[in-house]
Amino acid sequence: MKAMILPRCCDLSHNDTPLRMVDLPVPEPREGEILVEVTVCGVCHTELDEIEGRTPPKSFPAILGHQTVGRVVRLGVGADRFQIGDRVGIAWIHSACGSCELCRAGQENLCPDFCATGRDVNGGYAEYTTVPEIYAYHIPDCFSDAEAAPMLCAGAIGYRSLRLAGLRDGQRLGLTGFGASGHLVLKIVRHRFPATEVFVFARSEGERVFARELGAVWVGDSDDRPPQLLHAIIDTTPVWRPIISALGNLVPGGRLTINAIRKEELDKESLLELDYPRDLWLEKEIKSVANVTRADVSEFLELAAEVPLKPEYQLYPLEEANRALLDLKRRRIRGAKVLQVKTD
Ligand SMILES: [Zn+2]
Ligand SMILES: [Zn+2]
Repeated sequence: MKAMILPRCCDLSHNDTPLRMVDLPVPEPREGEILVEVTVCGVCHTELDEIEGRTPPKSFPAILGHQTVGRVVRLGVGADRFQIGDRVGIAWIHSACGSCELCRAGQENLCPDFCATGRDVNGGYAEYTTVPEIYAYHIPDCFSDAEAAPMLCAGAIGYRSLRLAGLRDGQRLGLTGFGASGHLVLKIVRHRFPATEVFVFARSEGERVFARELGAVWVGDSDDRPPQLLHAIIDTTPVWRPIISALGNLVPGGRLTINAIRKEELDKESLLELDYPRDLWLEKEIKSVANVTRADVSEFLELAAEVPLKPEYQLYPLEEANRALLDLKRRRIRGAKVLQVKTD
């Protein structure tokens, strides 16, 4: 099978072809697993973190990609949840232990044995992949494969972030960073919280224009002050500075939710500007979002079908995964980026 592999971690500012196309044997589904022929795979900012070593793969070469859509082509021993030909999605959660205190409490995203697709095991930047059947999802019929892909991470984690933000209808929400996840959050908010106004902070003019088109009442640069303080802010940026600005923009008792698996080191010194009375006093909260549970993914897919929520996306052929990643790194963003793996 064709696969884009990551031979080792590298710095994308010195290497613009981190992935290499190779031919590999098709993997065998193990007990309880299914073999999936991949049609598309979404490109996520986490792939940049994996490539640059902020959350490195467990072993090399690695096949990245955790927003995979495809068809079931083989069943491992004991696998009976799907039939050959069924369309399925695979998300960031590849597996968790299922028996620890966290798993039993429905927090499998926090399990110490959490295993991530495309980082701890091979993912969807290839023609075939395997997954335990209990960690695969039916895709609602109303979505094309390419529409479904960004929902499996950007959408599901956006949904989790919004839940953790604790927003009530009519409260003001800020989104810092406006990529694949942010734009889906804005779409969910308009459906779920019709009286909520959304304020978007984005570094690039393209992202700000896009946010306006999707219904943001105010857009500005990361450091700009919104006209009113906000009840909740969700940060999806890879850097630190927006954290300080966001805390200063919260109402008393407001909550900042950080949806980023790692932050880059570049501007870490901006944390020294943290001013306790302005940024943290008056019961302001910071909460991070880690991973997703199966419930997040399936609930979000259901909600997305009910809206119906259509993600905006740009397609790249699998062979051009490096270009998609660099466009993401350089913030040439309009919605989500999706790799077309199977063409016919
Ligand atoms: Zn992701
Ligand atoms: Zn567990």
